[in-house]
Formats: sequence, C-alpha cells, structure tokens
Amino acid sequence: MRAFDYVRARDVSSAHLDAAVPGTRILAGGTTLLDLMKCGVERPERLIDISHLGGLNDTTVDDQLIHIGALAKMSHVAANAHVQRQAAVVSEALWRAASPQLRNMASIGGNLMQRTRCTYYRDPAAYPNCNKRSPGSGCAALQGVNRNHAILGASESCVAVYPGDLAVALVAFDAKVKVLGDTERSIPVDDFYRLPGDTPHIEHTLAPGEIIVGVEVPVVPALKQSHYLKVRDRVSYEFAAASAAVGLEFEPDGHTIRDVRVAMGGVATKPWRARSVEQALRGKPFNEKVIRSAAELCVDGAQGLEHNRFKITLAPRVVARALMAAGGLV
Ligand SMILES: Cc1cc2nc3c(=O)[nH]c(=O)nc-3n(C[C@H](O)[C@H](O)[C@H](O)COP(=O)(O)OP(=O)(O)OC[C@H]3O[C@@H](n4cnc5c(N)ncnc54)[C@H](O)[C@@H]3O)c2cc1C
Ligand code: SF4
Repeated sequence: MRAFDYVRARDVSSAHLDAAVPGTRILAGGTTLLDLMKCGVERPERLIDISHLGGLNDTTVDDQLIHIGALAKMSHVAANAHVQRQAAVVSEALWRAASPQLRNMASIGGNLMQRTRCTYYRDPAAYPNCNKRSPGSGCAALQGVNRNHAILGASESCVAVYPGDLAVALVAFDAKVKVLGDTERSIPVDDFYRLPGDTPHIEHTLAPGEIIVGVEVPVVPALKQSHYLKVRDRVSYEFAAASAAVGLEFEPDGHTIRDVRVAMGGVATKPWRARSVEQALRGKPFNEKVIRSAAELCVDGAQGLEHNRFKITLAPRVVARALMAAGGLV
C-alpha cells in the first residue's frame, strides 16, 4: 500500500472543503475504500475521516418521511423497529447485504458509494484493460468471464453491475440522497447513479467534495406492503445474481392494484427501476397470471453476454416472486 495522509475531520463543512482537494477521499466505515486501496484500485494521497462526526447517525421515521443519516450503520438501520414496520424493503435490503461484521462497520453513505465487484476492475496488476479504472484502456470482461455482469444499461465501454442492495430499495420508492457541498441539495436516487455510456469511470452525480449527509424516503402506502428478494449463489455474504425491491397498494376491494413499485439489482449497471412492469400492473387484478406476464417486461431491451444470459430468465422470476410474496400469494 502507498503512503497517504490521514485527517480527522472537524465537522461536515470542513470535510467538504478538504474533500474537494484532488487526491482526497472521504473515509467512513472503510469496508470498501480500504479494500480498494489494498488492491491498488484507489490510490488516494489523503483520507478525510468522517466516521466520528456527530449528527449524521440518526434514523427518524414519521408519517411523511424516513430520514437516515449518512453515518448510520447498516445494522442499526436494518434493526430499527420503525423502519421495519413502515419500510420492510429497506430493512430487508440491508439485512441481506454483506455480513454481520460488515453491516456493523459500514455506513449508509458508504454503502451508496460502493464500487462494482467486477473482478477485472479489482485486479489492476493482472488486468490493465478496464475503462472504469483507466478510461480508454478497454474492457477485459467483454471477452472474459462475465457471468456476474449486466444485462441492462450496459455499453460497449463497460458491462459492470451495480452491486449494492439498499439503493435498489431506495430507487423503487423515489428516495433522495441529501448532499452537502457549497450548498445543500437533494438528488433523486435514480439520477444519482449514471449509466456507463462512454464514461464508465464517472458513476454518480456528486460534485467534487460533495458529501452525502443522509437519505430521505417518502412514506407512501406501497412502502408498508413492501419486500426485498435477493437471489444469489449462496445464502449469505454474497452479492445478488438478481434481486427485486417491490411494494404494493390495493384499492379498497383488496385485489385491484392501485400502486406498485418495482426495481431490480444484480442485473443492471445502476439500480434499475422497472417502470414498464409497474405500468402494466396498475389497475389490474392481483393474481399469479397477471403478475408473471407483467414481470416479463422487466427484461425488455436486455442483452446477454456469453456467461450471463441466465439472468434474462432469472430476473422476471425474481420480480414475480417478490411481488407475489409482498401480496401474500407465496
Ligand atoms: C466482502 C464484502 C461483501 C459485501 N456484500 C455486500 C452486499 O451483499 N450488498 C451490499 O449492498 N453491499 C455489500 N458490500 C459493500 C458494503 O456494504 C460496503 O463496503 C459498505 O456499505 C461501505 O460503507 P463504508 O462506510 O465502509 O464506506 P467506506 O469504505 O468508508 O467508503 C466507501 C466509498 O464511499 C465514499 N464515502 C463514504 N461515505 C461517504 C459520504 N458520506 N459522502 C460521500 N462519499 C462517501 C468513500 O470515499 C469511498 O469512496 C460488501 C462488502 C464487502 C467487503
Ligand atoms: S466491465 Fe467495466 S469494470 Fe469490468 S473490466 Fe469492463 S470496464 Fe472494467
């Protein structure tokens, strides 16, 4: 590992000014950043540690809004009784991520900023050609082992999957990321993450030095009947092969769908809202046939690579099963 300076931030405002200096990285739980420094992907000259700062740890829930501080630990938010009651999908997405040790250490802000798990990206010594790491160098995954890569949102430059779980739940429910820079602003999660296009090294819309201070989730009826289903190669400590965050609201008759939310993880280059599925289901009766038929739309436009075509079959099944679980059919 290369030598670097370590600075303990005084407060968020000074951390923002410090973080704007080129070569600087924010350090929260360190579970992503330190890994990337060890494998030579990140080579910061200076770390600004914000992990001890007060005022960014709280989770508050009322009838309108769930607010989660950027430094709240994943495990604390997952275990929050109000979050579990009002927004099961958020709690479930966090419980199914990583391992107990990681969840106890990792922050919500760091979780949103995690990087892809593409093995070529994370091994610069063996694979110099990675457009995300070194723009213009090529993409080793295109001709390599691409089983874990994206079927949606990919480009010729990069086919890496966005690996996180929480952001999938957040994008389904129109959550916003609150950031502090020269001013404070809120960014819808759907706009926070960028498609790779021909600039896969630019993954989000944070300006240099901007710091995530929290996340806000509007409380809508579909959030109360929500669910996160994650399908993976082993039952714990594994990223999604395909996942779905869903929510349902019914008309007073109890079976006509008034509102429905669907987003997918593990299959796309960013947390993927499946609006075509939602559109096909609004106003329809809730039954298995209707759900399975609408779920097929989630892979519209999908493109398989040599090893990941199974996701084109898997994703609609995961979406359908998540919806049926949320609605009590399985
Ligand atoms: C083995 C392993 C398995 C995992 N499995 C899963 C999984 O299944 N699902 C899942 O979702 N995640 C998984 N993760 C990722 C894990 O959730 C993240 O490592 C963690 O959430 C990052 O949080 P942190 O506080 O440790 O961030 P750090 O490592 O401190 O920071 C990560 C990045 O975010 C930036 N950053 C941190 N906080 C802020 C902020 N407030 N504002 C702006 N930038 C910030 C840092 O500069 C850095 O670039 C796994 C990680 C590991 C190591
Ligand atoms: S898929 Fe993206 S991250 Fe992986 S090697 Fe290709 S350019 Fe790099």
